[in-house]
Amino acid sequence: MRGFLFDEMIFGPVQSRRLGVSLGINLLPLHDKNCNFNCIYCECGWTKTRQAIKQDLPVSADLLIALEQKLQELSGTEWQPESITFAGNGEPTMHPDFVEILTETVELKHQYAPKAVVSVLSNGSMLHKPEIFEALKLADNNILKLDGGTEDTIRRINMPLKAFRLNEFIQQLSRFNGNLTIQTLFVRGFIGKDYVDNTKAGEVAAWIKLLKLIHPKMVMIYTIERETALEGLERIPKHELDLIVKQVRENGLQADVFT
Ligand code: SF4
Repeated sequence: MRGFLFDEMIFGPVQSRRLGVSLGINLLPLHDKNCNFNCIYCECGWTKTRQAIKQDLPVSADLLIALEQKLQELSGTEWQPESITFAGNGEPTMHPDFVEILTETVELKHQYAPKAVVSVLSNGSMLHKPEIFEALKLADNNILKLDGGTEDTIRRINMPLKAFRLNEFIQQLSRFNGNLTIQTLFVRGFIGKDYVDNTKAGEVAAWIKLLKLIHPKMVMIYTIERETALEGLERIPKHELDLIVKQVRENGLQADVFT
């Protein structure tokens, strides 16, 4: 099977391209991916399980004990985390105790790693739930995915497994009043006979229009780095990503390429 899966609730710390020394929190099952998207570029492989199956998920009390122990162990060392990052084998906001775990994590950060930020990498699919929307405001880095400028392209790249309406999603993102980061992965390649390319000029222009509506504090631009769910995808060269970043900045937004 293609894809890499985390086998721990608390993983790392690792040196992250975007977040520096990052201690990861995996709220998904160990040895299995659980997501309500099925991105063609996902490093965890294809989505087989779309419903969160509670008995396979980490228990919040166990996870918080493990996190506290790890933060104590790392305190004062060169691996003291710069970011405590919700990531892992799928979509973290699908965990039924996500709100409690995020709230407690912020407390533990203040206690053991006050200079660190709490980051959540999310596909934004649960923003319709008021408690998830409110909880994400607690994260220093609320990093949400927007991989195209049109619904068609997003559907083909991210393959949401439930109803997805781009205009509704943009409204949800706009409600953060700029207190969010947008992450966008640029890629191109064939899905069967169908070619997808979110770097095309028209796509980028449409995407920038959406960014201007959302007005994020930062736009993170990157491309594929490791093995992806779909074989044969093209990694976008740095000079192309730099041109895209330049356009975003010309529109008054902060953006960076992470390769
Ligand atoms: S949202 Fe993230 S975890 Fe889910 S399929 Fe896409 S890349 Fe993978």
